[in-house]
Amino acid sequence: MPTLHPRLASVFDELVRRNPGEVEFHQAAREVLESLGPVVVTHPQYAEAEIIRRICEPERQIIFRVPWVDDSGQVQLNRGFRVEFNSALGPYKGGLRFHPSVYLGTIKFLGFEQIFKNSLSGMPIGGGKGGADFDPKGRSDAEVMRFCQSFMTELYRHIGEYTDVPAGDIGVGGRELGYLFGQYKRITNRYESGVLTGKGLTWGGSQVRTEATGYGTVYFAQEMLKARDRALEGSTAVISGSGNVAIYAAEKVYDLGGTVVAMSDSSGYIVDPTGVDIHLVKEIKERRRGRISEYTDERGSGARFIRGGSVWDVPCDLALPCATQNELSAKAAASLIGNGVLAVVEGANMPCTPDAVRAFQEAGVAFGPGKAANAGGVATSALEMQQNASRDSWNFAYTEERLHVIMRDIHERCATTAEEYGAPGNYVVGANISGFTKVADAMLAFGVI
Ligand code: GLU
Repeated sequence: MPTLHPRLASVFDELVRRNPGEVEFHQAAREVLESLGPVVVTHPQYAEAEIIRRICEPERQIIFRVPWVDDSGQVQLNRGFRVEFNSALGPYKGGLRFHPSVYLGTIKFLGFEQIFKNSLSGMPIGGGKGGADFDPKGRSDAEVMRFCQSFMTELYRHIGEYTDVPAGDIGVGGRELGYLFGQYKRITNRYESGVLTGKGLTWGGSQVRTEATGYGTVYFAQEMLKARDRALEGSTAVISGSGNVAIYAAEKVYDLGGTVVAMSDSSGYIVDPTGVDIHLVKEIKERRRGRISEYTDERGSGARFIRGGSVWDVPCDLALPCATQNELSAKAAASLIGNGVLAVVEGANMPCTPDAVRAFQEAGVAFGPGKAANAGGVATSALEMQQNASRDSWNFAYTEERLHVIMRDIHERCATTAEEYGAPGNYVVGANISGFTKVADAMLAFGVI
Protein backbone atom coordinates (compact mmCIF):
# COMPACT_ATOMS: atom_id res chain seq x y z
CA MET A 1 0.00 0.00 0.00
CA PRO A 2 1.49 3.45 -0.87
CA THR A 3 2.33 5.54 2.19
CA LEU A 4 0.37 8.67 3.05
CA HIS A 5 1.67 12.17 3.74
CA PRO A 6 1.86 12.35 7.62
CA ARG A 7 -0.94 14.93 7.77
CA LEU A 8 -3.18 12.65 5.67
CA ALA A 9 -2.14 9.53 7.59
CA SER A 10 -3.51 11.06 10.78
CA VAL A 11 -6.79 11.91 9.00
CA PHE A 12 -7.01 8.33 7.77
CA ASP A 13 -6.24 6.83 11.19
CA GLU A 14 -8.94 8.99 12.74
CA LEU A 15 -11.42 7.98 10.02
CA VAL A 16 -10.78 4.28 10.63
CA ARG A 17 -11.17 4.80 14.38
CA ARG A 18 -14.41 6.75 14.03
CA ASN A 19 -15.96 4.40 11.47
CA PRO A 20 -15.04 0.92 12.68
CA GLY A 21 -15.68 -2.01 10.36
CA GLU A 22 -16.78 0.19 7.42
CA VAL A 23 -14.15 -1.27 5.12
CA GLU A 24 -15.53 0.05 1.80
CA PHE A 25 -15.57 3.57 3.26
CA HIS A 26 -11.97 3.16 4.46
CA GLN A 27 -10.99 1.96 0.98
CA ALA A 28 -12.66 4.85 -0.86
CA ALA A 29 -11.23 7.44 1.55
CA ARG A 30 -7.73 5.97 1.41
CA GLU A 31 -7.70 6.20 -2.39
CA VAL A 32 -8.60 9.89 -2.31
CA LEU A 33 -6.11 10.65 0.49
CA GLU A 34 -3.32 8.88 -1.43
CA SER A 35 -3.89 11.33 -4.28
CA LEU A 36 -3.92 14.44 -2.10
CA GLY A 37 -0.24 14.37 -0.96
CA PRO A 38 0.91 17.05 -3.42
CA VAL A 39 -2.15 19.21 -2.66
CA VAL A 40 -1.26 19.37 1.05
CA VAL A 41 2.10 20.78 -0.02
CA THR A 42 0.85 23.30 -2.58
CA HIS A 43 -2.24 24.38 -0.60
CA PRO A 44 -1.34 24.50 3.12
CA GLN A 45 -4.52 26.52 3.72
CA TYR A 46 -6.65 23.36 3.30
CA ALA A 47 -4.86 21.52 6.10
CA GLU A 48 -4.83 24.64 8.31
CA ALA A 49 -8.61 24.91 8.05
CA GLU A 50 -8.91 21.11 8.57
CA ILE A 51 -10.78 20.87 5.26
CA ILE A 52 -9.64 17.30 4.63
CA ARG A 53 -10.71 16.10 8.08
CA ARG A 54 -14.04 17.87 7.67
CA ILE A 55 -14.66 16.39 4.19
CA CYS A 56 -14.26 12.89 5.67
CA GLU A 57 -17.06 13.45 8.17
CA PRO A 58 -20.62 13.39 6.76
CA GLU A 59 -22.66 16.51 7.49
CA ARG A 60 -25.60 14.34 8.53
CA GLN A 61 -26.37 10.60 8.76
CA ILE A 62 -29.93 9.35 8.94
CA ILE A 63 -30.79 5.74 9.83
CA PHE A 64 -34.40 4.66 10.03
CA ARG A 65 -36.77 1.75 10.46
CA VAL A 66 -38.69 0.60 7.38
CA PRO A 67 -41.56 -1.73 8.31
CA TRP A 68 -43.85 -3.12 5.60
CA VAL A 69 -46.29 -5.98 5.00
CA ASP A 70 -45.52 -8.70 2.42
CA ASP A 71 -48.06 -10.43 0.16
CA SER A 72 -48.68 -13.17 2.73
CA GLY A 73 -49.60 -10.62 5.40
CA GLN A 74 -46.31 -11.04 7.26
CA VAL A 75 -44.66 -7.91 8.70
CA GLN A 76 -41.18 -7.34 7.30
CA LEU A 77 -38.51 -5.03 8.62
CA ASN A 78 -35.62 -3.29 6.88
CA ARG A 79 -33.15 -0.56 7.70
CA GLY A 80 -33.06 2.65 5.66
CA PHE A 81 -30.17 5.10 5.28
CA ARG A 82 -29.47 8.53 3.91
CA VAL A 83 -25.98 9.95 4.36
CA GLU A 84 -25.91 13.68 3.56
CA PHE A 85 -22.19 13.97 3.08
CA ASN A 86 -21.32 17.37 1.71
CA SER A 87 -23.39 20.36 0.54
CA ALA A 88 -20.59 22.79 -0.35
CA LEU A 89 -21.46 22.84 -4.06
CA GLY A 90 -25.22 22.34 -3.97
CA PRO A 91 -27.98 20.19 -2.49
CA TYR A 92 -26.91 16.67 -1.49
CA LYS A 93 -27.21 14.53 -4.61
CA GLY A 94 -26.85 10.82 -5.09
CA GLY A 95 -28.82 7.65 -5.59
CA LEU A 96 -30.58 5.11 -3.42
CA ARG A 97 -29.37 1.50 -3.40
CA PHE A 98 -31.71 -1.35 -2.42
CA HIS A 99 -29.63 -4.50 -1.90
CA PRO A 100 -29.41 -7.02 0.95
CA SER A 101 -25.68 -6.23 1.41
CA VAL A 102 -26.33 -2.54 2.18
CA TYR A 103 -25.14 -1.25 5.57
CA LEU A 104 -23.90 2.13 6.76
CA GLY A 105 -20.39 1.50 5.38
CA THR A 106 -21.76 0.94 1.86
CA ILE A 107 -23.71 4.17 1.89
CA LYS A 108 -20.81 6.13 3.37
CA PHE A 109 -18.39 4.89 0.72
CA LEU A 110 -20.85 5.72 -2.04
CA GLY A 111 -21.66 9.12 -0.53
CA PHE A 112 -17.97 9.95 -0.18
CA GLU A 113 -17.28 9.04 -3.84
CA GLN A 114 -20.29 11.07 -4.85
CA ILE A 115 -18.82 14.31 -3.40
CA PHE A 116 -15.87 14.22 -5.79
CA LYS A 117 -17.80 12.77 -8.72
CA ASN A 118 -20.43 15.49 -8.50
CA SER A 119 -17.78 18.18 -8.17
CA LEU A 120 -15.97 16.80 -11.21
CA SER A 121 -19.20 16.80 -13.22
CA GLY A 122 -19.10 20.59 -13.16
CA MET A 123 -22.73 20.73 -12.00
CA PRO A 124 -23.94 22.58 -8.85
CA ILE A 125 -24.57 19.50 -6.70
CA GLY A 126 -23.27 18.26 -3.35
CA GLY A 127 -22.76 14.62 -2.39
CA GLY A 128 -25.02 12.13 -0.65
CA LYS A 129 -26.27 8.57 -0.91
CA GLY A 130 -28.96 6.40 0.59
CA GLY A 131 -30.61 3.04 0.46
CA ALA A 132 -31.78 0.04 2.39
CA ASP A 133 -30.90 -3.60 3.02
CA PHE A 134 -34.08 -4.54 1.15
CA ASP A 135 -33.82 -7.24 -1.54
CA PRO A 136 -36.21 -6.51 -4.42
CA LYS A 137 -35.32 -9.87 -6.06
CA GLY A 138 -38.33 -12.19 -6.08
CA ARG A 139 -40.65 -9.52 -4.63
CA SER A 140 -43.94 -8.71 -6.35
CA ASP A 141 -44.67 -5.19 -7.66
CA ALA A 142 -47.12 -4.73 -4.78
CA GLU A 143 -44.44 -5.63 -2.22
CA VAL A 144 -41.92 -3.28 -3.83
CA MET A 145 -44.60 -0.55 -3.77
CA ARG A 146 -45.35 -1.02 -0.08
CA PHE A 147 -41.66 -1.05 0.77
CA CYS A 148 -41.05 2.17 -1.22
CA GLN A 149 -44.03 3.88 0.40
CA SER A 150 -42.80 3.00 3.88
CA PHE A 151 -39.26 4.11 3.00
CA MET A 152 -40.50 7.48 1.72
CA THR A 153 -42.82 7.97 4.70
CA GLU A 154 -39.66 8.61 6.72
CA LEU A 155 -37.32 9.96 4.02
CA TYR A 156 -39.65 12.75 2.84
CA ARG A 157 -38.91 14.96 5.85
CA HIS A 158 -35.18 15.01 5.04
CA ILE A 159 -35.23 15.72 1.29
CA GLY A 160 -36.28 18.56 -1.03
CA GLU A 161 -35.38 20.35 -4.25
CA TYR A 162 -32.95 22.64 -2.38
CA THR A 163 -31.90 20.18 0.33
CA ASP A 164 -31.28 16.66 -0.88
CA VAL A 165 -32.22 15.07 -4.21
CA PRO A 166 -32.10 11.25 -4.34
CA ALA A 167 -32.16 9.13 -7.53
CA GLY A 168 -31.64 5.48 -8.43
CA ASP A 169 -28.72 3.08 -7.99
CA ILE A 170 -28.56 -0.73 -7.78
CA GLY A 171 -32.09 -2.08 -7.16
CA VAL A 172 -33.74 1.31 -7.70
CA GLY A 173 -34.96 2.12 -11.21
CA GLY A 174 -38.00 3.65 -12.87
CA ARG A 175 -40.51 1.44 -11.03
CA GLU A 176 -39.15 2.23 -7.55
CA LEU A 177 -38.72 5.95 -8.30
CA GLY A 178 -42.36 6.06 -9.40
CA TYR A 179 -43.56 4.63 -6.08
CA LEU A 180 -41.20 6.91 -4.15
CA PHE A 181 -42.24 10.07 -6.02
CA GLY A 182 -45.93 9.17 -5.74
CA GLN A 183 -45.65 8.81 -1.97
CA TYR A 184 -43.64 12.05 -1.61
CA LYS A 185 -46.27 13.92 -3.62
CA ARG A 186 -49.09 12.46 -1.55
CA ILE A 187 -47.53 13.16 1.86
CA THR A 188 -46.40 16.70 1.07
CA ASN A 189 -49.24 17.69 -1.27
CA ARG A 190 -46.60 19.23 -3.55
CA TYR A 191 -45.71 18.37 -7.14
CA GLU A 192 -42.06 19.06 -6.45
CA SER A 193 -40.44 17.57 -9.56
CA GLY A 194 -36.90 18.53 -8.55
CA VAL A 195 -36.94 16.39 -5.38
CA LEU A 196 -35.99 13.18 -7.20
CA THR A 197 -34.25 12.43 -10.49
CA GLY A 198 -34.49 9.47 -12.82
CA LYS A 199 -38.23 10.11 -13.08
CA GLY A 200 -40.36 8.73 -15.90
CA LEU A 201 -40.62 10.81 -19.07
CA THR A 202 -44.34 11.54 -18.55
CA TRP A 203 -43.86 12.89 -15.02
CA GLY A 204 -40.88 15.21 -15.07
CA GLY A 205 -38.05 12.90 -16.12
CA SER A 206 -35.31 13.77 -18.59
CA GLN A 207 -34.47 12.18 -21.91
CA VAL A 208 -31.17 10.26 -21.77
CA ARG A 209 -31.20 9.86 -17.94
CA THR A 210 -31.78 6.09 -18.28
CA GLU A 211 -28.92 5.75 -20.76
CA ALA A 212 -26.62 8.38 -19.25
CA THR A 213 -24.32 6.40 -16.93
CA GLY A 214 -23.55 3.75 -19.54
CA TYR A 215 -23.31 6.17 -22.47
CA GLY A 216 -21.14 8.54 -20.44
CA THR A 217 -18.75 5.75 -19.43
CA VAL A 218 -18.17 4.84 -23.06
CA TYR A 219 -17.74 8.49 -24.10
CA PHE A 220 -15.11 8.73 -21.38
CA ALA A 221 -13.43 5.53 -22.63
CA GLN A 222 -13.43 6.98 -26.14
CA GLU A 223 -11.58 10.10 -24.92
CA MET A 224 -9.06 7.96 -23.01
CA LEU A 225 -8.34 5.88 -26.10
CA LYS A 226 -8.06 9.01 -28.25
CA ALA A 227 -5.49 10.43 -25.83
CA ARG A 228 -3.37 7.33 -26.60
CA ASP A 229 -3.96 7.52 -30.36
CA ARG A 230 -6.24 4.48 -30.26
CA ALA A 231 -9.86 4.24 -31.38
CA LEU A 232 -12.93 2.60 -29.95
CA GLU A 233 -14.02 1.75 -33.47
CA GLY A 234 -13.08 -1.84 -34.28
CA SER A 235 -12.30 -2.72 -30.66
CA THR A 236 -13.77 -5.54 -28.55
CA ALA A 237 -15.30 -4.89 -25.14
CA VAL A 238 -16.12 -7.06 -22.14
CA ILE A 239 -18.76 -5.62 -19.82
CA SER A 240 -19.55 -7.00 -16.38
CA GLY A 241 -23.13 -6.75 -15.18
CA SER A 242 -26.31 -6.59 -17.24
CA GLY A 243 -28.20 -3.90 -15.37
CA ASN A 244 -28.89 -0.32 -16.36
CA VAL A 245 -25.24 0.80 -16.60
CA ALA A 246 -24.01 -2.30 -18.46
CA ILE A 247 -26.85 -2.35 -20.99
CA TYR A 248 -26.43 1.26 -22.09
CA ALA A 249 -22.64 1.02 -22.05
CA ALA A 250 -23.02 -1.89 -24.48
CA GLU A 251 -25.41 0.12 -26.66
CA LYS A 252 -22.89 2.98 -26.92
CA VAL A 253 -19.98 0.62 -27.66
CA TYR A 254 -21.94 -0.55 -30.73
CA ASP A 255 -22.88 3.05 -31.67
CA LEU A 256 -19.20 3.94 -31.74
CA GLY A 257 -18.20 0.95 -33.85
CA GLY A 258 -17.00 -1.53 -31.21
CA THR A 259 -18.23 -5.06 -30.41
CA VAL A 260 -19.32 -6.40 -27.01
CA VAL A 261 -18.14 -10.00 -26.66
CA ALA A 262 -19.18 -10.82 -23.07
CA MET A 263 -21.57 -9.69 -20.33
CA SER A 264 -22.47 -11.14 -16.93
CA ASP A 265 -24.78 -11.23 -13.95
CA SER A 266 -24.33 -12.63 -10.45
CA SER A 267 -24.80 -16.22 -11.68
CA GLY A 268 -22.20 -16.25 -14.48
CA TYR A 269 -21.35 -14.79 -17.85
CA ILE A 270 -22.16 -15.14 -21.53
CA VAL A 271 -19.62 -15.07 -24.34
CA ASP A 272 -20.80 -14.29 -27.85
CA PRO A 273 -17.80 -13.83 -30.16
CA THR A 274 -19.90 -12.41 -32.99
CA GLY A 275 -21.23 -9.70 -30.67
CA VAL A 276 -23.72 -9.82 -27.80
CA ASP A 277 -27.26 -9.09 -29.04
CA ILE A 278 -28.14 -6.16 -26.80
CA HIS A 279 -31.84 -6.20 -27.77
CA LEU A 280 -32.06 -9.73 -26.42
CA VAL A 281 -30.24 -8.77 -23.20
CA LYS A 282 -32.68 -5.87 -22.77
CA GLU A 283 -35.64 -8.16 -23.32
CA ILE A 284 -34.34 -10.64 -20.71
CA LYS A 285 -33.11 -8.21 -18.07
CA GLU A 286 -35.32 -5.11 -18.43
CA ARG A 287 -38.65 -6.56 -19.46
CA ARG A 288 -38.58 -10.05 -17.92
CA ARG A 289 -36.26 -9.32 -14.98
CA GLY A 290 -34.68 -12.69 -15.89
CA ARG A 291 -31.21 -14.22 -15.74
CA ILE A 292 -28.41 -13.78 -18.29
CA SER A 293 -28.25 -17.59 -18.71
CA GLU A 294 -31.53 -17.36 -20.69
CA TYR A 295 -29.54 -15.61 -23.42
CA THR A 296 -27.89 -18.74 -24.82
CA ASP A 297 -31.19 -20.67 -25.04
CA GLU A 298 -32.64 -18.01 -27.28
CA ARG A 299 -29.57 -16.89 -29.19
CA GLY A 300 -28.51 -20.37 -30.26
CA SER A 301 -25.31 -20.90 -32.23
CA GLY A 302 -22.01 -19.51 -31.03
CA ALA A 303 -23.05 -18.09 -27.67
CA ARG A 304 -21.98 -19.81 -24.44
CA PHE A 305 -23.00 -19.38 -20.81
CA ILE A 306 -20.37 -20.03 -18.14
CA ARG A 307 -21.77 -20.51 -14.65
CA GLY A 308 -19.59 -18.83 -12.01
CA GLY A 309 -16.09 -18.10 -13.31
CA SER A 310 -14.75 -14.68 -14.19
CA VAL A 311 -15.90 -12.63 -17.15
CA TRP A 312 -12.44 -11.01 -17.06
CA ASP A 313 -10.92 -14.18 -18.48
CA VAL A 314 -12.44 -13.25 -21.86
CA PRO A 315 -9.81 -11.46 -24.00
CA CYS A 316 -10.73 -7.87 -24.97
CA ASP A 317 -9.34 -4.43 -25.83
CA LEU A 318 -11.67 -2.59 -23.46
CA ALA A 319 -12.90 -3.79 -20.04
CA LEU A 320 -15.90 -2.02 -18.55
CA PRO A 321 -16.72 -3.17 -15.00
CA CYS A 322 -20.36 -2.10 -14.62
CA ALA A 323 -21.65 -4.38 -11.84
CA THR A 324 -20.63 -3.50 -8.28
CA GLN A 325 -17.81 -2.61 -5.87
CA ASN A 326 -14.67 -4.77 -5.67
CA GLU A 327 -15.83 -7.11 -8.43
CA LEU A 328 -12.50 -6.94 -10.29
CA SER A 329 -9.61 -8.38 -8.23
CA ALA A 330 -5.85 -8.42 -8.76
CA LYS A 331 -6.21 -11.92 -10.20
CA ALA A 332 -8.75 -10.69 -12.77
CA ALA A 333 -6.48 -7.73 -13.53
CA ALA A 334 -3.58 -10.12 -14.21
CA SER A 335 -5.77 -12.09 -16.60
CA LEU A 336 -6.87 -8.94 -18.48
CA ILE A 337 -3.28 -7.65 -18.68
CA GLY A 338 -2.06 -11.06 -19.90
CA ASN A 339 -4.66 -10.94 -22.66
CA GLY A 340 -3.49 -7.47 -23.78
CA VAL A 341 -6.29 -5.18 -22.53
CA LEU A 342 -5.78 -1.52 -23.59
CA ALA A 343 -8.10 0.28 -21.21
CA VAL A 344 -10.20 -0.44 -18.11
CA VAL A 345 -12.97 2.06 -17.47
CA GLU A 346 -15.25 1.85 -14.41
CA GLY A 347 -18.99 2.15 -15.06
CA ALA A 348 -19.79 0.98 -11.52
CA ASN A 349 -18.63 2.64 -8.30
CA MET A 350 -15.22 1.32 -7.13
CA PRO A 351 -15.47 -2.01 -9.01
CA CYS A 352 -11.69 -2.51 -9.13
CA THR A 353 -9.84 -3.40 -5.93
CA PRO A 354 -6.86 -1.15 -5.05
CA ASP A 355 -4.33 -3.84 -6.02
CA ALA A 356 -6.09 -4.34 -9.38
CA VAL A 357 -5.83 -0.59 -10.05
CA ARG A 358 -2.13 -0.64 -9.15
CA ALA A 359 -1.57 -3.61 -11.48
CA PHE A 360 -3.19 -1.74 -14.40
CA GLN A 361 -1.16 1.38 -13.74
CA GLU A 362 2.11 -0.55 -13.45
CA ALA A 363 1.37 -2.43 -16.68
CA GLY A 364 0.67 0.83 -18.53
CA VAL A 365 -3.02 0.00 -19.08
CA ALA A 366 -5.18 3.14 -19.28
CA PHE A 367 -7.41 3.21 -16.19
CA GLY A 368 -10.53 5.39 -15.82
CA PRO A 369 -11.87 5.59 -12.24
CA GLY A 370 -15.63 5.49 -11.70
CA LYS A 371 -15.90 8.89 -10.12
CA ALA A 372 -14.86 10.37 -13.46
CA ALA A 373 -16.01 7.76 -15.96
CA ASN A 374 -19.50 7.11 -14.56
CA ALA A 375 -20.30 10.74 -13.67
CA GLY A 376 -22.57 11.03 -16.72
CA GLY A 377 -25.48 9.57 -14.77
CA VAL A 378 -25.49 12.11 -12.01
CA ALA A 379 -24.60 14.90 -14.45
CA THR A 380 -27.74 14.08 -16.43
CA SER A 381 -29.66 14.07 -13.14
CA ALA A 382 -28.47 17.66 -12.75
CA LEU A 383 -29.76 18.36 -16.27
CA GLU A 384 -33.08 16.86 -15.18
CA MET A 385 -33.11 19.27 -12.21
CA GLN A 386 -32.38 22.13 -14.61
CA GLN A 387 -35.34 21.16 -16.79
CA ASN A 388 -37.60 20.76 -13.75
CA ALA A 389 -36.60 24.20 -12.41
CA SER A 390 -37.49 25.86 -15.71
CA ARG A 391 -40.55 23.62 -16.30
CA ASP A 392 -39.03 22.65 -19.62
CA SER A 393 -38.12 19.38 -21.32
CA TRP A 394 -35.40 18.96 -23.89
CA ASN A 395 -35.27 16.49 -26.76
CA PHE A 396 -33.05 13.40 -26.86
CA ALA A 397 -30.45 14.69 -29.30
CA TYR A 398 -29.93 17.97 -27.44
CA THR A 399 -29.69 16.25 -24.04
CA GLU A 400 -27.27 13.64 -25.32
CA GLU A 401 -25.07 16.31 -26.81
CA ARG A 402 -24.98 18.05 -23.40
CA LEU A 403 -23.91 14.74 -21.83
CA HIS A 404 -21.25 14.21 -24.46
CA VAL A 405 -19.75 17.67 -23.85
CA ILE A 406 -19.84 17.10 -20.07
CA MET A 407 -17.91 13.82 -20.42
CA ARG A 408 -15.32 15.42 -22.69
CA ASP A 409 -14.90 18.23 -20.14
CA ILE A 410 -14.48 15.77 -17.26
CA HIS A 411 -11.83 13.92 -19.23
CA GLU A 412 -10.04 17.16 -19.98
CA ARG A 413 -10.22 18.26 -16.33
CA CYS A 414 -8.74 14.94 -15.11
CA ALA A 415 -6.00 14.87 -17.75
CA THR A 416 -4.94 18.49 -17.17
CA THR A 417 -4.93 18.18 -13.38
CA ALA A 418 -2.92 14.93 -13.49
CA GLU A 419 -0.38 16.65 -15.72
CA GLU A 420 -0.25 19.73 -13.48
CA TYR A 421 0.51 17.58 -10.43
CA GLY A 422 3.24 15.57 -12.14
CA ALA A 423 1.26 12.40 -12.87
CA PRO A 424 0.41 12.58 -16.60
CA GLY A 425 -2.09 9.94 -17.70
CA ASN A 426 -3.07 9.10 -14.11
CA TYR A 427 -6.84 9.68 -14.11
CA VAL A 428 -7.13 8.61 -10.46
CA VAL A 429 -4.90 11.46 -9.33
CA GLY A 430 -6.52 13.88 -11.81
CA ALA A 431 -10.08 13.03 -10.73
CA ASN A 432 -9.37 13.11 -7.02
CA ILE A 433 -7.43 16.36 -6.99
CA SER A 434 -9.72 18.17 -9.39
CA GLY A 435 -12.87 16.97 -7.59
CA PHE A 436 -11.43 17.79 -4.19
CA THR A 437 -10.09 21.31 -4.82
CA LYS A 438 -13.42 22.71 -6.01
CA VAL A 439 -15.20 21.45 -2.87
CA ALA A 440 -12.32 22.56 -0.64
CA ASP A 441 -12.35 26.10 -2.07
CA ALA A 442 -16.09 26.42 -1.44
CA MET A 443 -15.65 25.13 2.13
CA LEU A 444 -12.84 27.62 2.73
CA ALA A 445 -15.08 30.43 1.51
CA PHE A 446 -17.81 29.45 3.97
CA GLY A 447 -15.46 29.53 7.00
CA VAL A 448 -15.89 27.02 9.79
CA ILE A 449 -19.47 25.83 9.57
N1 GLU B 1 -26.41 6.33 -8.52
C1 GLU B 1 -25.79 7.11 -9.55
C2 GLU B 1 -24.31 7.34 -9.22
O1 GLU B 1 -23.69 6.48 -8.65
C3 GLU B 1 -26.57 8.36 -9.91
C4 GLU B 1 -26.91 9.28 -8.81
C5 GLU B 1 -27.84 10.43 -9.23
O2 GLU B 1 -28.25 10.52 -10.38
O3 GLU B 1 -28.12 11.24 -8.34
O4 GLU B 1 -23.74 8.33 -9.55
